[in-house]
Parts: sequence; structure tokens; C-alpha cells
Amino acid sequence: MSKKSLLVFTGAGISAESGISTFRDSNGLWRNYRFEEVASPAAWHSNPELVMEFYNMRRKQLFEVEPNPGHRALVKLEEKFDVQIVTQNVDDLHERAGSTRVLHLHGELKKARSTRFPNLVYELKHWELKIGDTCEKGAQLRPHIVWFGEEVPEFPKAVAMVQEADIMLIIGTSLNVYPAAGLLNYFRPNLPKYLIDPKAENVGHISGLTVIRKTAGEGAPELVAKLLEERSGY
Ligand code: NAD
Repeated sequence: MSKKSLLVFTGAGISAESGISTFRDSNGLWRNYRFEEVASPAAWHSNPELVMEFYNMRRKQLFEVEPNPGHRALVKLEEKFDVQIVTQNVDDLHERAGSTRVLHLHGELKKARSTRFPNLVYELKHWELKIGDTCEKGAQLRPHIVWFGEEVPEFPKAVAMVQEADIMLIIGTSLNVYPAAGLLNYFRPNLPKYLIDPKAENVGHISGLTVIRKTAGEGAPELVAKLLEERSGY
């Protein structure tokens, strides 16, 4: 029997229990900044040092944290499902937990790319990226992040993945940041969909959505166990 295709769509909330603050909760790293000052093309043009510093701090933190039970539970799903993760997160905690197929909609903190040759993308082995660090053709490197106001190049790929899915799990996203939040609209009607978020708000209008008001670390292992159990009868 072929495996069902399961799409997991994650946001900052799944990494909260690893110690990375979410955007909406506005604590930790985001508290001292307005996003326009640090996460937009205009910010990069007017104050690249500040933008670098902001992402350096986030990258430094990422080297210090670990995946949590929410990330790890999703790895187990691969035993019985064709799992594709689409994440808004720029951390690499899904990969470090062991998930094999992860699409990053908003870029990756541990990568840098050339400001003049966008196809030149580099893995960063260390947290610090500096003004003066260049690609092999001599152009300044920038964080490999999709900033507010920039196009989301992976969005069409994500839409196709959602359209093919049989089951959708949404974890730890306020569904406020577009176009990512619109992905749910591409999921075929009348198929099972779940949302895990302790403070899920404004989702009453989404028909057929099972809302689990728990943290990812608690809710994901429970839901994963239930889904695996349901499949074990086949
Ligand atoms: P968001 O901050 O807008 O919303 C986070 C959601 O997670 C909220 O609904 C909150 O109730 C929920 N949440 C909080 N703790 C949780 C937990 N323990 N378990 C489950 N859910 C929990 O985040 P978003 O919707 O992802 O959008 C914010 C944008 O900021 C994204 O574009 C993302 O790229 C970026 N961002 C990324 C990271 C990261 O990479 N880890 C962190 C912060 C922000």
C-alpha cells in the first residue's frame, strides 16, 4: 500500500521550546527591533551593519540551541507517511532533528548569499558574517533570508506540495505573514487538517480544521502517535 502524503507547515512556534523566541510573542531577540529596521531591503541599504548584527545574534543563538520533542516527533512520521515539511523558520532544527525533506520558505540563517549573484549561496560554519565578507566574485555577502517586502521564490514549489498532500499539519504559526499563510487555501477540501498552537486565534472560519491548543513539544508527539496508530491497521 502506498504511503499517504503528509504536509507539515511550521512557524516560529515549533522552535519556541528550543529557546528561539517567536516573532509575535515579541520577546527575546525581536523585542529591541522593529522588523523594518532589521529585516527589509531598505534596512540593508540604510544600515547594513545593524542588519548584519541582528542576524549574527540570531545565528549565534542557533548554534547554541537544540531541536525539541516537537521537531523530533515529526521525524517518526516518515516511518508511515511521505512527509514534506514546509517551514517559515530560518533555523535548521527540523534538519538537525532528522527530517529529510524540508523546504525553507523564508531562507536559512546558516547560509549567506551574494548581493550581486543570487545563485551563489554558501553554508556558514560560524555565526559571524561581516561587512567585507564577499562571494568568490568579490561581491558583498548578505544573510540568505527572505526579507519583508521581498519575493518568496520557493512559494510556487510549496503550493504544489500542499496541493498534492492528503493530510496537513500546521504547527506554531500565527498565519499572519503572507504569502506563506495563504498556503492553507491550496489544500484540497474535505481532507484532514490539524493545527497545533496553544494560542490559536481567528481560525474558527477554517472548515474541517482540528485545533489542538497545546505546545508543539506536547501536542506534536501526541498527534504523531495517533496518526501512526491509525496507519498501523493497514
Ligand atoms: P509568529 O511569531 O507570527 O507566530 C508564532 C505562533 O506560534 C503563535 O501563533 C504562537 O501562539 C505559537 N506558539 C508559541 N509558542 C508555541 C509552542 N511552544 N508550540 C506551538 N506554537 C507556539 O510566527 P510565524 O507565523 O512563523 O511568522 C513569523 C515570521 O517570523 C516568519 O516569517 C518566520 O520566518 C520568522 N521567524 C522565524 C523564527 C525561526 O526561524 N525560528 C523565529 C521567529 C520569527
